[in-house]
Amino acid sequence: MNESYLRAMDRALEPDMPPPSLRLAIDRAALAANWRALDALAGGGRAGAAVKADCYGLGVDSCVPALRDAGCEDFFVAHWGEVAAVAAHVPAGRIAVLHGPLEPADCAYARAVGAVPVINSLEQAEMWTQSGGGRCHLMVDTGINRLGIALAEAGDPRIAALDIDILMSHLACADETTALNRMQAELLREAAETIPHRRLSLANSAGIGLGPDFALDLTRPGIALYGGVPRAELAEAIRPVAHVEARLLQCRQLAPGESVGYNATFIAPTPMRVGTVSIGYADGFLRARGPGNAFWSDSRRLPILGKVSMDMVVVDLAEAPDLAAGDWLKVPWNIADAAQQTILSPYEMLTVIGRRLRGV
Ligand SMILES: *Cc1c(COP(=O)(O)O)cnc(C)c1O
Repeated sequence: MNESYLRAMDRALEPDMPPPSLRLAIDRAALAANWRALDALAGGGRAGAAVKADCYGLGVDSCVPALRDAGCEDFFVAHWGEVAAVAAHVPAGRIAVLHGPLEPADCAYARAVGAVPVINSLEQAEMWTQSGGGRCHLMVDTGINRLGIALAEAGDPRIAALDIDILMSHLACADETTALNRMQAELLREAAETIPHRRLSLANSAGIGLGPDFALDLTRPGIALYGGVPRAELAEAIRPVAHVEARLLQCRQLAPGESVGYNATFIAPTPMRVGTVSIGYADGFLRARGPGNAFWSDSRRLPILGKVSMDMVVVDLAEAPDLAAGDWLKVPWNIADAAQQTILSPYEMLTVIGRRLRGV
């Protein structure tokens, strides 16, 4: 009997998992529609997809197949450690690693799996060439000052030695209307004149909203794919993708003067029926999102009472007297809703989503 047969037997003998008490539903049709809308906004160019940080917390296994099937061909991750999960769904040669190689082991890994480094410095360029060279991408810094070669380094022989597919830069303030956006686009065009490349890329999600001048050959949307609206121009095109729900574990009756949660920060002024919900800060519903916020049952608002715990939140059930243990509530996680963004940015709201919600 071989090993994989034995593993299959083991799995067959495992008890069935009971249903979860919290869930993250990914609307794959909305994700695909968002990609297609952003691809259409790229004019003559194409849209790729930023799938770093496990597709911004939504899960590579849920999102990457939907993006691939919608027609996306270029995928961006930050770390080498993120390549394998994405490569399970798309050819490794279509995966770009934004951080580039920090040491020769990264180059060896890139070669072994076929993923493509984004070269960010002369040192990285030299390291890649010394490891054998081949197709790569090049980041040019035009003003954000995080990663990328300086424009003044464009003529360096270490850059001339590269076989560059995507020549790219990254906008610092694409969600604002500022002169820096145009300046950065201008500087990238300048770099493109001296650095041989096949494709030119500048815009992230917000950059796509800046208009066709910024789309070039390839755009790199991330947050807008997942339902974020970083510029008003994109509002029409983008649909929500992530829906978070959690179940009531228990309903309780409070007498006036009784308190709720750690540090007894809420005290019932009158008799109240409250419910304990199966989600907490360990799932990414951070404590800071508690005050003034509410869960929902259909259109009935259920205000949060007291502090958010690691695994639980208590809500006021006054508006929904029919609810009982086991019922599902909607957890506020609409990243296009400005009111939800006072504490966390839409990027943070997604990337803090915890393992239990993702079902891993
Ligand atoms: C994360 C990232 C993107 C995607 O940005 P969004 O604002 O999420 O659209 C694009 N390009 C680079 C270099 C990035 O690091």
